[in-house]
Amino acid sequence: MNLRKRHSLLIVSSPSGAGKTTLCRRLVARRPEFQLSVSHTTRPPRPGEEDGREYHFVSDAVFDSMIDTHVFLEWAPVHQHRYGTSKNEVTRIFAMDKNPLFDVDYQGTRSILNAYEKAISVFILPPSMAELARRLRARKTESEDAFRTRLGNSTRELENYGLYHHLILNDELDKAYADLEAIALGQPRSRPAPTLLDVERLIAEGSSLQKDGATLRAA
Ligand code: ADP
Ligand code: 5GP
Repeated sequence: MNLRKRHSLLIVSSPSGAGKTTLCRRLVARRPEFQLSVSHTTRPPRPGEEDGREYHFVSDAVFDSMIDTHVFLEWAPVHQHRYGTSKNEVTRIFAMDKNPLFDVDYQGTRSILNAYEKAISVFILPPSMAELARRLRARKTESEDAFRTRLGNSTRELENYGLYHHLILNDELDKAYADLEAIALGQPRSRPAPTLLDVERLIAEGSSLQKDGATLRAA
């Protein structure tokens, strides 16, 4: 039995705050044939997060030893912490006869696409960078430093849009979810996909927002 051929693997990325966690959670809730891959991270848990549910939260020393013992399919430094997908996690999901859903950054996307050439990658775009900042603030999970780091890193995420097979605009959640579900099920979407021009507009807006500290503070 060739597991790689039988299952579809879905990768979802976005700048922090664009809505990928919300969309991924809805997909696994509505389409139980998909299962979220639970990564390991050195980031501390946020209030409400549980070890083993959102992430396996580990120390730097444990993460180091996991790298040394080749536990990871991929790992990467993201927003001043480290995150990694274990090979065991993928095996566990295949063993349940489900399709893995990876919420990883562009570095993880590149590695997973190298390991599984049939994986499908999806990038979620915010309607504007000002709205991205607003959502990140409204989530109330980040310190001021972490907020700035995440917003600063959003341009790099956007610049790697070329790694992705599909772009989704998360303007209205229901519409964005319909796009994601259609892609996951290999069906046509009911509205046009965003274009390269939309990505370029966001990158340009991100650069001017970075220079304009007042806008950031007000977000
Ligand atoms: P990410 O996982 O990409 O960092 P989240 O899924 O945590 O983003 O979403 C960031 C915040 O934005 C959350 O508070 C979420 O409820 C909110 N959000 C997500 N999608 C939308 C949307 N379409 N419109 C308004 N708010 C949204
Ligand atoms: P957060 O701290 O908001 O949960 O996640 C921060 C970033 O890390 C997001 O872009 C998320 O997609 C990414 N991420 C989460 N898990 C992994 C992983 O296992 N590998 C990689 N490369 N990135 C991950």
